[in-house]
Amino acid sequence: MTEKEIDCEQALKQILEYVDHELEDGNQAAMEHHLHTCQSCFSRMEFERRLKDKVGALREEKVSSNVTNRIKGLLDSF
Ligand SMILES: [Zn+2]
Repeated sequence: MTEKEIDCEQALKQILEYVDHELEDGNQAAMEHHLHTCQSCFSRMEFERRLKDKVGALREEKVSSNVTNRIKGLLDSF
């Protein structure tokens, strides 16, 4: 089994797809490998996953533009 090595730049590009489970198997494995070895990308992934959960929960309720703007601000400041 050959493991693809990816760096942080590649990992960050794929992080949203990873959180959405949209990566192909090979890329998925490479991401998991990277996340196991890289604390900063792992933290970023956790952040995106929590944000996704929050946004998903908000969508089920009535989304006020106020909250949406606050999430956008949060993303910009990260
Ligand atoms: Zn990394």
